[in-house]
Amino acid sequence: MLNGSEVSKGIGIGIAKVISSSGDVMSNDEFLSEISGMKPGAVLVASHLSPYMVGVLKDYSIAGLVCETGGMSSHSALAAKSMGIPAVYDVTGATNEIKDGDTVIVDGIGGYVYERPTPDVVASYTAKRKKYLADVEQLKSYRNLKTAMADGTEAVIMCNTSDILSVMHAIDEGGEGIGLFRTENLLSGEGAIPDEDEQTRVYSRVATAMKGKEVVIRTLDIGGDKSIPFLDLEKEENPFLGYRGVRYSLGHKDIFTMQLRAILRASASGNISIMIPMITCVEEMRNIKSLINEIKTDLRDEGFEFNDDIKVGATIETPSAAILSDMLARECDFFSIGTNDLVQYVMSADRGNSRVAYLQSVTQPSVLRMIKMTIEAAKSAGIDVAVCGEAASDPDVVPILAGFGCRKFSVNPRSVSEVRRTLSGWTVSDAEKLATDILNIPVDQEIKDHIHRIYKDRMS
Ligand code: PEP
Ligand code: MG
Repeated sequence: MLNGSEVSKGIGIGIAKVISSSGDVMSNDEFLSEISGMKPGAVLVASHLSPYMVGVLKDYSIAGLVCETGGMSSHSALAAKSMGIPAVYDVTGATNEIKDGDTVIVDGIGGYVYERPTPDVVASYTAKRKKYLADVEQLKSYRNLKTAMADGTEAVIMCNTSDILSVMHAIDEGGEGIGLFRTENLLSGEGAIPDEDEQTRVYSRVATAMKGKEVVIRTLDIGGDKSIPFLDLEKEENPFLGYRGVRYSLGHKDIFTMQLRAILRASASGNISIMIPMITCVEEMRNIKSLINEIKTDLRDEGFEFNDDIKVGATIETPSAAILSDMLARECDFFSIGTNDLVQYVMSADRGNSRVAYLQSVTQPSVLRMIKMTIEAAKSAGIDVAVCGEAASDPDVVPILAGFGCRKFSVNPRSVSEVRRTLSGWTVSDAEKLATDILNIPVDQEIKDHIHRIYKDRMS
């Protein structure tokens, strides 16, 4: 048995397709040629998978993914999760230990991989898989319910999406809005950035499909572990600390202006807001707001319709933004807390580096304090606050976020029902008590143990 990080829930049993030896990073073309002819039901075992590579797998009904690198909240892991492929990452030595043609079990719940399992292990996992699928089926009854806590306090569960298909999935799963529309897929499309009209068409389609529900479109967030091949991003020593997100956008006003014009034009078709990623200081927000005002003037002169009161908010995902959240709240119409990046920056632990995966936990006390501080700053300023990082999809963490005062969660479409069920089991006062107790615990694992103890007590 091999150990790793459970990055995408579910249990997959299939025949291994091993595509690279340890340490290699493949080009996209090499990857495509390696997987061509891969059979449906295979378990793909790789040393590295980029978000693009995982995206390609939508055309191959694979049973599971095993990756030697990655990290729980790497964009590659998030892609696997949104596609519902059981996946375990950070599995040291997987491409050596597992041979092409081996039977493999991927336990995306516990974070284990079994190579050449005995018939007993296969039988036990077949039963576990059946139980898991029965729970998924049972969760469907939450799809069309309103979100409420056990005392009737209302909450909203929106979805994280990245294309029209995932927006349709969000609607099917009972998402109450789009809390994060990532635009990297759209802008990295066909070998060139889609022009303003094409972007307007896509954003308008999302807004129209959501029928007046909130749609938060995040401007381009490239850099870090996401690149757009045709933009020729300079190679950097520390890409996560480099030219990423808003920094790239402010340095490429042509691309940024085109995107903002498209979002504004699309705002005539529905309830669209603009969210800016990787904000670290007030100046950035001020620059963006004055750019948006200039664009509005141009659009007005050109006779385009748009929502003049469009909300402009920031992803709070850097320690600087969280620490400054009281001041940033005066510049923003809303906050959305991006816990995936917040964890990596607060803990100084690259979200894609498996060697520091043990630090990548949202229940690290320092991370929890930052989240609490941000929610409180938003509340005192009277602006909306949501959590859009993976923490919002985690049933162990959702009650803590609720206890901090969060009532808006933006989650992977597959997690809508589970988060709705979780919230329905907690009153505000129980959640507040949990949050207060947890803030007094200094160690991540002790916090996790405390939560599990409480869940166990509640079940008994
Ligand atoms: C985050 O950082 O938590 C987030 C939602 O954005 P991304 O995962 O795309 O960086
Ligand atoms: Mg982020």
